[in-house]
Amino acid sequence: MFIDYVKIHLQAGAGGNGCLAFRREKFVPRGGPSGGDGGRGGDVVLESNPHLATLLPFRYKKHFKAGRGGHGEGSKRHGKDGQDLVVEVPVGTVVSDGDNGEVLFDFDKPGLRFTAARGGRGGRGNARFATSTNQAPRRTEPGRPGQELTLTLELKTLADVGLIGFPNAGKSTLIAAISAARPEIADYPFTTLSPNLGVMSYRDFHSFVVADIPGLIEGAHDGSGLGDRFLRHVERTRLLAHLIDVSDLGPEDPEEAHRVIQQELKLYKSALARLDQIVVASKLDAANPEKLERLESYCRRQGLPFQAISAATGSGLQQLKDEMARHLGVGSK
Ligand code: GDP
Ligand code: MG
Repeated sequence: MFIDYVKIHLQAGAGGNGCLAFRREKFVPRGGPSGGDGGRGGDVVLESNPHLATLLPFRYKKHFKAGRGGHGEGSKRHGKDGQDLVVEVPVGTVVSDGDNGEVLFDFDKPGLRFTAARGGRGGRGNARFATSTNQAPRRTEPGRPGQELTLTLELKTLADVGLIGFPNAGKSTLIAAISAARPEIADYPFTTLSPNLGVMSYRDFHSFVVADIPGLIEGAHDGSGLGDRFLRHVERTRLLAHLIDVSDLGPEDPEEAHRVIQQELKLYKSALARLDQIVVASKLDAANPEKLERLESYCRRQGLPFQAISAATGSGLQQLKDEMARHLGVGSK
């Protein structure tokens, strides 16, 4: 299952209570009211961070609470404002009301901020209620509660790189081999989100998502009702990696294999067939030299970028990552 949809619970801070106090000074028998106001409760703010690629961290942390406001004090001292809590979400996250589904915010750019839950106002202390007729008010207000709500986060577009190729071409193995746990999910043992989707980290803090498009196509047609959601994952896809098994177990004619898949892709979604494409000869460790050579020269003639890899031994993987990053304009150097 793809992690592209989570429900989270936010609780903004409550305001601090207003204070009830009277001045006490030597030689002043009846001091006036001096209770200060409570501080504001902290807000819960969502912010889009371009270095996050998935909603995976929200699988482990779903409750977010901002700080409460301090209570007012004597001598008209105002309570401290509660601390805001900033929750980072990946670019592409759409936020909706968890109850009625209304879309509240669309993080379509990095660095956007959305105050999702507002902290409660602080209550007024008794110093604020003094009037000419009531110079010793005992009235104070309690702080207001912070907003509390459930939100739905959805990551609309996910896959940057789509993998295509025949079954057994080695797509799932490649995803597992190039995917890496992101720092914030480093405590979790797995690196791929599902056999069809992986997050690849690149030069420390860049990351992109690699997805198996035939897996997506199957998902879209499997009648499970998730079709549209699966298809959304390819909206952001800017690059395809077309895997062709050049071992003896692979297709007899790698050139023909390329054309067949290309044709299928066109029928499925013609926009995908027009994307940049890297042709990847897979299973280099077990390569049939003639197939490898045939595919490589075909790509040269067609002007297609070509890379031979072995997900088993790791050879060619760094070059493939570099080539992907270059096409995506990620971490260019
Ligand atoms: P997919 O159907 O395209 O997802 O292909 P898989 O990743 O499931 O791989 C199909 C078969 O090829 C599996 O038995 C893998 O172990 C094998 N395989 C994948 N990559 C390599 C590789 O680099 N070298 C070798 N020798 N076998 C591989
Ligand atoms: Mg597979």
